[in-house]
Amino acid sequence: MNKDHVALVRCYFCGESDRILLATRYNQKGEPLKDLGPLNNKVIDMDPCRKCQDWMKQGIILLGIDPEKSDPVWEKEKLPNPFRSGAFSVIKDDAFDRIFDGEGVKEFAHKHRFMFVDHKVLVMLGIVKETADEEGHSQQG
Ligand SMILES: [Zn+2]
Repeated sequence: MNKDHVALVRCYFCGESDRILLATRYNQKGEPLKDLGPLNNKVIDMDPCRKCQDWMKQGIILLGIDPEKSDPVWEKEKLPNPFRSGAFSVIKDDAFDRIFDGEGVKEFAHKHRFMFVDHKVLVMLGIVKETADEEGHSQQG
């Protein structure tokens, strides 16, 4: 059985390929102790990629979700993984503070630099369009 000694992992926030993991420990035969194959293409932690780090300096990343399709206990998971609508936008801190309210919400967002928001709310606020139904339309790459 061959074990993989590299894996390409994805960014938690944007979902794009981010880092390459390399096995660090090998046995005498030169086989990695840990098979990294299962980690390939997965999100393994909440470290933002370079691009997302940049976004987080500029503002707060809003990730659209569909609460009805999400696991009811997603907020309690170690790596929260609600059903994502695909909406990804960044707003400035002061704009965030004007729009969002509620206990702990601002504190969370300022500290963690992102927040999951119901897609419907993002649409209601005019932050994203209803659906991405315009084929071929893309936002600045
Ligand atoms: Zn990213």
